[in-house]
Amino acid sequence: MVFPGKVMLISVHGDPLARLGGIQSGGQNVYVREMARALDSMGIQVDVFTHWSDPGLPRSEPLGRKSRVIRLTGGSKGFHSKHQMFGMLPMFVKELIQHVGNPCHYAVIHSNYWLSGWVGLQLQKILRIPRIHTSHSLGTVRKDAIGTKGNEPLAVRLRVEREVLKKADRVIATTPFEEKILKKHYFVPNDNISVVPCGVNTELFRPLKNSKLDRRFSDQERKTVLFVGRFEENKGLGVLLKSFKILKEKYPLTAARTRLVIAGGDCLELPLNALSAEKKQYLKFIGENRISELVEFAGPLKHEDLLAYYNDASITVVPSYYESFGLVAVEAMACGCPVIASRTGGLRHNVIHGKTGLLVEPKSPEELASAINFLLTDEKARKQMSAEAAIHGKRFSWLKVASQISGIYREVTGWKEKYDPKSQDISWLQI
Ligand code: UDP
Repeated sequence: MVFPGKVMLISVHGDPLARLGGIQSGGQNVYVREMARALDSMGIQVDVFTHWSDPGLPRSEPLGRKSRVIRLTGGSKGFHSKHQMFGMLPMFVKELIQHVGNPCHYAVIHSNYWLSGWVGLQLQKILRIPRIHTSHSLGTVRKDAIGTKGNEPLAVRLRVEREVLKKADRVIATTPFEEKILKKHYFVPNDNISVVPCGVNTELFRPLKNSKLDRRFSDQERKTVLFVGRFEENKGLGVLLKSFKILKEKYPLTAARTRLVIAGGDCLELPLNALSAEKKQYLKFIGENRISELVEFAGPLKHEDLLAYYNDASITVVPSYYESFGLVAVEAMACGCPVIASRTGGLRHNVIHGKTGLLVEPKSPEELASAINFLLTDEKARKQMSAEAAIHGKRFSWLKVASQISGIYREVTGWKEKYDPKSQDISWLQI
């Protein structure tokens, strides 16, 4: 017997099929895409509603066998910063309602991030069906990490976030750290929280026997330190660049045999005057501190391409100021690449200090430089961590995630039959 009704998965600013690595497309896009596909393979039909940010993409696209992505304009097609999207949401709700059949085909709403949470809340009131919510990032944590700067409407966000969380039938925390914040700062009751981690596509992200694939950076003489992420201050790329300046001054022998490869951010093809403010800032720092021979930009990469980068890298660094989960760390580990990460948020749980990598103080370029130097000079320790990382990374799987999430859908809709993995086609996923 299949789940009674469809899942309405709302991800306003995170199109699951968008190109990854840009300013606004990262972990949430991956989460929605992989979970929808995994649920679909279990026979659960999902409609993902997202903003039509890329006019080059069609209004609707399949995602799995029966599921699909539906793009809504919110009154204005084309890219909009998520910080400016709140005002578009009422229109988004109106458009979304047109997709609800009569009687309603949806059994449950699953909202992602506070913007989609607001949309989900309105639909929850109108349709009177349960809603579960995944936050991806929380306003209070962001505020603690970077303060009130930036153009996000923080006061609105915090107010909406509280209501979105309070009125959800279940809140998903992706780590015990997030669970703590939800209880302490948002007063979400214990019974209303389920801790379900994010996953990793372990069929794709795996150690390769022959990792030197045909690509620009396969210079065997120099070891690669890899950064993968959006160009946003809280991702800590500025701190990582400072640590390379220190590496060059304090550990010149290591620096001479190392390169920092940066994946994500601006396209390589962009002219200088079209670069983002962040990239311009990084280039300025690199030029002023004469570390350009140490740094290479790879531009945004697809997951299929990242596989080679994670495999070629000696270390992946995740220097974020905060990170609610940190998919990059888990993907790198699944490829057998040790991770140096900030001791913060989800990274604290996902990277095992001294075993699968090292945890360092956030915003400390000195500590980061010394950790990088350590792992690049102690090959025995690095190899041991690489083996442990590969074992640890394999534990995360989207099918496990989707199976837990579907259990929650069943609980909140009052439909309790156990999921039987043997009855479904799950050949594309690894358990
Ligand atoms: N990513 C990618 N290509 C890039 C940069 C990033 O595919 O050039 C992906 C990365 O592999 C990961 C996601 O974007 O799956 C980033 O997720 P994470 O949780 O690390 O950070 P977030 O974007 O959620 O802050």
